[in-house]
Amino acid sequence: MIAENLKRLRDRINEQCAASGRSAEEIKLIAVSKYFGINAIAEVNKLDITNFGENKAQELRDKFELLGNKVNWHFIGTLQRNKAKYVVKAASLIHSVDSLSLADEVNKQAVKNDKDQGILLEIKTSFEETKAGLNQEEQIIKLIEHCKTLSNINLMGLMTMAPYTDDEQLIRKSFSDLRKLIDKINQQGFNLTELSMGMTSDFEIAIDEGATMLRIGSAIFGQRDYSKNWRAI
Ligand SMILES: *Cc1c(COP(=O)(O)O)cnc(C)c1O
Repeated sequence: MIAENLKRLRDRINEQCAASGRSAEEIKLIAVSKYFGINAIAEVNKLDITNFGENKAQELRDKFELLGNKVNWHFIGTLQRNKAKYVVKAASLIHSVDSLSLADEVNKQAVKNDKDQGILLEIKTSFEETKAGLNQEEQIIKLIEHCKTLSNINLMGLMTMAPYTDDEQLIRKSFSDLRKLIDKINQQGFNLTELSMGMTSDFEIAIDEGATMLRIGSAIFGQRDYSKNWRAI
């Protein structure tokens, strides 16, 4: 089932790239493996997917213990400072840095691990109160400038989640706002290249609006069973 899902997904990505005048090579597919076990990850990895996304620090830590660097790990969830140590050890890219203090902690852990830590800043592009992320331009620029002073942080771009809605216009606005923001930032002399946006329900719009990284779970692995522990799946 996973192989079929992935084939269908790749077809859809290619079709959308053609429609949007983009090359599929510009777009990295991150398989979001949260709630799925090691066997499912191995199966997807065999189908030429190397990038996997997790949203909980402990789950990433435990899966990293089992699989190590056989795959390339991304951290996409809300990150508490006291768990940054697990995430820095495992993740090549942390998509969800949203404060100065978290950037400092990630840098501290990266120094300890003697690595350059890739990060994205999570931006709030919708006005839903519950969504994590930064939403004021001034604050964002300040954080970007701060990241430049951190020895082991490599800031590569921005990430967002669209609002939870069926309204396609609102979803599109969220993604186009992120693209406009990165353009504006780069006009001020920065060189951010990555836009992490688009999930199973909205990745076509994200491709159309310039995504360079898609974070897709259920279209590959199937529906998540939130009542089960990943070790049992
Ligand atoms: C779970 C998750 C995804 C993937 O969601 P699907 O709808 O399964 O594709 C993407 N981004 C984040 C931050 C997530 O937590």
